Parts: sequence; C-alpha cells; structure tokens
Amino acid sequence: MEAVQAVRGMNDILPEQVGWWQGIETSAREVLESFGYREMRTPVAEKLELFARGIGESTDIVEKEMYAFEDRNGDWLALRPEATASIVRSYIQHALHAEGGCRKFYQIGPMFRHERPQKGRYRQFHQIDAEVFGLDSPMIDAEMMHMVGVLVDRIGITNVGLNINTLGCPGCRQVYREVLKKFLIEQGEGFCGDCLRRRDTNPLRVFDCKVQKCAELLESAPRLLDHICNDCRAHFDAVKDHLERLGTRYAVNPRIVRGLDYYMRTTFEVITDRLGSQSAIGGGGRYDGLVRDLGGPDVPAVGFAMGMERLVLLLEQEKERPLRSPFCFFASLGDQARAKAFVLAQQLRGRGLEAELDYEGRSLKSQMRRADKSGARYVLILGEDELARSEVQVRDMLTKTQRLLPLENILETLLTIDSQK
Ligand code: ATP
Ligand code: MG
Repeated sequence: MEAVQAVRGMNDILPEQVGWWQGIETSAREVLESFGYREMRTPVAEKLELFARGIGESTDIVEKEMYAFEDRNGDWLALRPEATASIVRSYIQHALHAEGGCRKFYQIGPMFRHERPQKGRYRQFHQIDAEVFGLDSPMIDAEMMHMVGVLVDRIGITNVGLNINTLGCPGCRQVYREVLKKFLIEQGEGFCGDCLRRRDTNPLRVFDCKVQKCAELLESAPRLLDHICNDCRAHFDAVKDHLERLGTRYAVNPRIVRGLDYYMRTTFEVITDRLGSQSAIGGGGRYDGLVRDLGGPDVPAVGFAMGMERLVLLLEQEKERPLRSPFCFFASLGDQARAKAFVLAQQLRGRGLEAELDYEGRSLKSQMRRADKSGARYVLILGEDELARSEVQVRDMLTKTQRLLPLENILETLLTIDSQK
C-alpha cells in the first residue's frame, strides 16, 4: 500500500535538525525576556475577518496566500499567516491595555501561507514574533532593531544587515500615494498584471513585487522618504540617532514597504546575502493605527517577526550540527547485570542526566558500538564477574581510558570524577 506523505510545503523537523530549533528557541526566550518581553500563545486558527481587517485586503498574504476554510458551523476561519493580528486581538479581548503603560509580548510558533514551496519558503513555517504596545517614542523602535541584532548574534549568525525606512503617517502617505500613482500611470503598461491592478487599489504595494521588470521600472520612482511630514521626519531622525547611540549599524533603504498594510513610520528588514532570493530573515515596524482599527483603544505599537527556517538554513552553513548525547551508557553482560544497569540508569536520569542502556542482552561488542555511536561521555560496563565482586568498569570515552571502581555509590563516584574534569 502506498504510504501517506506530508502536505507539500509542510515539513517534519527530525531529531537530527531539532538541535538547531531548540538552540534558536532558547536564545529567543533569553534575549526577549531580558528586554522585558513576555510570552503569549494564541491559537493557530482565527476568524478569517481578523486577518482581512488586520493585514489588509489587497496584500499578497490575504489575496493569495491565506489558508482559509469554512468549518462545520459555516464559520470562516484561517490558519494564521503571521502573529501580529492575533496578538492585537488578544490584547484587545483581554483588555491588556487596562493597566496602562507599555506592554511587551512575544510568540514563537508555526504560521501558514499558501506560497510556492522552495528553499527558505514553505507553507508551514515558524516565526519568532515580538510586539510592544503603548509607546510612541522612537527609542523603542531603535531598541527593537538593536534587540533583533542581539538575538541574531546570540543565535550565532553573522553577517546580517539591517535596512530601515519610514512609511510616514496616513497623512503623508495620502499625498505620496497620488504622486506615486501619477508616476505609475506615466510609466505605462510595462508592469506585471498584479502591479497594474495595485496601481488603482494600493499603489505602495508595487514596491513589494518580486518581478524583475517591475523593480527596474520602479528605479526612478519618487521616494516616500521625500514626501513625509515634519513630525514623521523628526521621528525617523530620532530613530536613527538612537540606533547610532546603541552602535547598531543600518542602511536606509527607501524601497522597503513590507507586505502588510498596517505599517507606518519605522519599517525595517534584516537581510542576508546567503539565501539567494529568500534574503529577508526578519522584518517589522510601527503600526500605530492597528489596535484602534481592530476595535481597541488608540494605542501605538511596534513589532517584528523573524523566520526560523531561514535562521536554521544559515546556521547549517556556518556551524556544526548540535548533537545531544548521553552522559552515560550502561553496558551489561548477563540478566542480573542488565537488571542492575536498568536500575542505575533510572537513578542517573532522576538526577537530570541522560542515560542509555542495552535492553536486549546484545553482545558486548554490539553494545560498545552503540555506546560509541551515541556519543556517550562515559560507559559503565557491568559484567557477571564484576558484579559478583561488586565492581564496575568505567570507560572514559573522551580519553579512551578505563578503570575498575567499586559498584557501591558508583553514581556519586562518577559525578565526582566528572566534576574534576
Ligand atoms: P518574503 O519577502 O520573503 O516573502 P515577507 O515579507 O512575506 O517575506 P514577513 O511577513 O515579514 O515576510 O515575515 C517575516 C519573516 O518570516 C520573513 O522575513 C521570513 O524570514 C519569514 N517567512 C515569511 N514567509 C515565509 C515562508 N513562506 N516560509 C519561510 N519563512 C517565511
Ligand atoms: Mg511573503
């Protein structure tokens, strides 16, 4: 019978790879918590309307990539394509704004977008996401970008760049939209079908287009940066000053618009040149109007999301694969010795150390082969003769030396030997 395969673009993360994932998650928790962020876990499915309203009807995500479905009650749901809308929904629903002041949240988990699967682009992928509510200050924009740098560094990835831009406020954007629209009309019909449509529905989105000829036509497009109001300019200048104060290097890239409609003022992308066309490892920005638009109070907000698959791809290029190995492998000969090894292994595990053993009474040779393959730090060899004399052979797999020790309190002895290393 033919075996069932996983859904295209949705990957298993096997034990050989999971070390990367655990390392990234641990670093993310440590770094984000040290900056005052607290974890929140929202459901993977939400009402479709949340994303339509939250991300924008004419974005690629909502138009083309959403995993939307009608459930058995006839309600329209969607698998979340990103975390921000869900966190905002939760923040409003539980009145987390009631305490006043600023709140910082993070979330780590799977996201779903119906894209064409390729290296670095999948249909189920994972993000580290962080959001701050209640701060207008350009300091938090800069702090967040600095934090992303600290995080990438802690994860162990080098050579990433930070691109920043400002999208202005709805006021300056309105002016710019008209300027851009005029430019697009003057350029004629050379754009792709999507961009021709965007010209009328949401002109700014053209900058997010991945079609080469569109990018070329946009080379001479007017820049939003040249059309922002004084308040937005002052905010952007302050963000840059703070970044410099923190020693965070950046480049201003006036073409970053981000694929979500809710951004305003600061936007940024963390990029690499080592993943081909999947060059963005993370991005984010300010979205002051969204909480209000989704039915909450008028609270400013800033956030970012980073793609974990792309982080893993980079780590694989730069580092040795992290492996887990037992502290001790218990090899035994004979039923009695095996029963003793069985008990000792549980005792060592009870102390929080990884232990492995032979359950099946295999030959000593085959047990030693397994011990070696497991990468165990020590092997305890319990033979019938040794057991009769209340002794045990302890082999140090690093130095390849072996000694005979009393079986009594052997775990204590082993831990003492190890702590003296
Ligand atoms: P891209 O331009 O590569 O499509 P995006 O602008 O759609 O990225 P965001 O919505 O900003 O991406 O998500 C933040 C990060 O999540 C991205 O920088 C990327 O690392 C990751 N990401 C987004 N979509 C995918 C996907 N389909 N597969 C794997 N990672 C993804
Ligand atoms: Mg995308």
